[in-house]
Amino acid sequence: MPHLPEFPPSSLPAILKSKEKGNEAYSKAQFSTALTEYSRGLSHFKTSSTPPSPTNVIDSKNAGDPVVLLTSLLSNRSATYTHLRKYTEALKDADEVVGARPTWVKGFFRRGEALQGLRRHTEALEQYEIALQKDPKSGSIGVKIARIKAILEDASKGLVIHQLLPGRDLCSKSLLAPIQNLIFDYAIQMRNFIYVIENVASREALVVDACWDVDGILKYCANEKLTIVGALVTHYHFDHVGGIPPPPFDQYRVRVDGLAKLLKKLHNIKAYVNPLDIPEIIKSNPELSESRFAPTEDNGHLSLPFSNSGEGARDGGTTTLLEFIHSPGHTPGSQCVLVNGERLLSGDTLFIGSCGRLDFPDSDKVRMFASLMKLGRLKGEVVVYPGHDYGGEMTTIETEKRTGTLRPRSEADFLAEFSHD
Ligand SMILES: [Zn+2]
Repeated sequence: MPHLPEFPPSSLPAILKSKEKGNEAYSKAQFSTALTEYSRGLSHFKTSSTPPSPTNVIDSKNAGDPVVLLTSLLSNRSATYTHLRKYTEALKDADEVVGARPTWVKGFFRRGEALQGLRRHTEALEQYEIALQKDPKSGSIGVKIARIKAILEDASKGLVIHQLLPGRDLCSKSLLAPIQNLIFDYAIQMRNFIYVIENVASREALVVDACWDVDGILKYCANEKLTIVGALVTHYHFDHVGGIPPPPFDQYRVRVDGLAKLLKKLHNIKAYVNPLDIPEIIKSNPELSESRFAPTEDNGHLSLPFSNSGEGARDGGTTTLLEFIHSPGHTPGSQCVLVNGERLLSGDTLFIGSCGRLDFPDSDKVRMFASLMKLGRLKGEVVVYPGHDYGGEMTTIETEKRTGTLRPRSEADFLAEFSHD
């Protein structure tokens, strides 16, 4: 049995203050500050020698309850460690949360996140499943479970799809770079997902929509011991490829990191872009020459590894097959990427419960409707990884056909819904 935590009553205001400051820093993605504050709050705690007794009921409504306070600080610090990719520390805090407050769903959720970070996916799944039993209606736990199941299935086929989010996996701020921090804040607001498609056997990888923090992406891939062999672009908008942002976003007077920087750093790779979107990319990244682009076609294929493409897998490894699906509407050259016929990187064509904006001068509602119908013909089990985190990490074609933008309706109904744009 764990012993009861306690702190000198006079420390309560200081602990609450640290928690508040930690939460504020956390919400602004200032994770090292958050870590310091949570640790400061936790430093006031001592473990009492009094064993818990039935009279020591946890009063979850009382913010000053030592168990509630201790476990919320630990849970928040665990989440912070996860953001900082210090998963062993994250797991240790999560274990303490579960030990001190086994009825609380959060501890199991944090354990799941830490184990996921440690790539102990089967154990992570177990923890998320316990969390879901405790909170059966939680959508966020359901998504975590679906994501882990997809990861495990992909792993059996030698594939990893890394999903990176500014503020979570990229764009960590430094006190020494105020302008960069401004861009990173902006990135966090935009909630773009950047993907890395890894072929496990060859350790070759393709980056999808490299943007906002190219150094961070390169560092991530180096950590994973991956060789980037190509850049895939879902569409030309600056939040996916970088460059000069359009008004009113040009107020920062800085360029957003992206494809141009990636291609400059990796001079052997090409960018796979639908030809209709290439001129716009060059317009906002004039240093890019046309020779760096590999124009894609609807239903065109690409496979990993590049090093022996066409000859099947090397060392018994599995080939990763990619198919481009031209999905105009949001932009003329928007494209989705279907991986192994089972995972769809949908860019800004399909989001969870919605589709990309159609109020740009070159967007086209009629073509978007046709593109969505085309995606609706994919298998229901296809997992969809969208280009932005608008309410979650992933969805499926089936879910979107049931409740989202892929639900059956006439073109007229679809157009009527977007008539306000
Ligand atoms: Zn867009």
